[in-house]
Amino acid sequence: MIDRATLPEFHTALASWFAANGRRGLPWRDAPTPYAVLVSEFMLQQTTVATVIPRFKGWMARFPDIATLANATEAEVLKHWEGLGYYSRARNLHRAANAIATLHCGIIPSDPAALRSLPGIGPYTASAIAAFAFDKCVPVLDANIIRLAARLANFESPISTAQGMASIERISTALLPPTGGRAHTSALMDLGSIICHAGVPDCLSCPVKSFCKAQSPALLPVKPPRKKTTEVVEARSIAASADGVHLLQSAGPRWKGLWTLPPCTDPEEPVVTITHAITRYKVRLELHASAAEPHWTLFPLDNLPAMPSPHRKALALALQKIGIGSASDF
Ligand code: SF4
Repeated sequence: MIDRATLPEFHTALASWFAANGRRGLPWRDAPTPYAVLVSEFMLQQTTVATVIPRFKGWMARFPDIATLANATEAEVLKHWEGLGYYSRARNLHRAANAIATLHCGIIPSDPAALRSLPGIGPYTASAIAAFAFDKCVPVLDANIIRLAARLANFESPISTAQGMASIERISTALLPPTGGRAHTSALMDLGSIICHAGVPDCLSCPVKSFCKAQSPALLPVKPPRKKTTEVVEARSIAASADGVHLLQSAGPRWKGLWTLPPCTDPEEPVVTITHAITRYKVRLELHASAAEPHWTLFPLDNLPAMPSPHRKALALALQKIGIGSASDF
């Protein structure tokens, strides 16, 4: 833990580094309105910054404020989330907008406890919104900050336990400045991502190395061993013609409300196969040519509803292969 007497020097070193090296071009950071921060935090929960930036801009153009989002239909919301995956986030963001509109007069609360009462907002997201949108000095425990805190304090116990995370929270709380939570949190995140990254960190370039107690930083934080990847095959049907493609709406829980290629109960030779990863599963998605069943719905190819990304990608490849469309149509 950093000595309280030297904490102001730590903050100065961190702030100087951040002013010169902090990440630029993050629209939610350049204009951190509470709504922009709320949207960005939902999008960033399981998606990379590079993927989120263009999608965030599109989202803000279509749903510029809480009222517009609250008044949209779920189908519109899902359609604009397409490609980001983990659609429960889109549903929760929509529900959170409705709760803010009805219970908070359309004003996003600044208190982490009030934020946590909204759909889809857990302790991490509540703290991130409090810090980035409202400049509060609260610990924000994302992967970069957890790694940095564990190394600064040479915390050698596992972080996978409640006790371990409570210790990391105490270390991060002790690092907080009296004011300026937004810049402090952004600086810690960027330092953790750019210098004190996973694997072997760049300690020689580190602006806070004189405060760091890590003995073997590459071994920190201590994590449980990774779970083995399991391979699964998912067989789906493609019933398509120039009139369109037949889809089936998912009843959930996975992909609830999205339109999917219908399950195939009698797989033969697949038309196309793609692989994608979901958590610890490696999924081989096979598309098999099938006749349409009565309960499937026909959609024209130029007006498809919101679909899971792997299904849309596999459909594009299959249509290209059977000569109905080109992959660039999607
Ligand atoms: S000195 Fe090395 S381990 Fe310590 S905070 Fe800096 S980069 Fe991380």
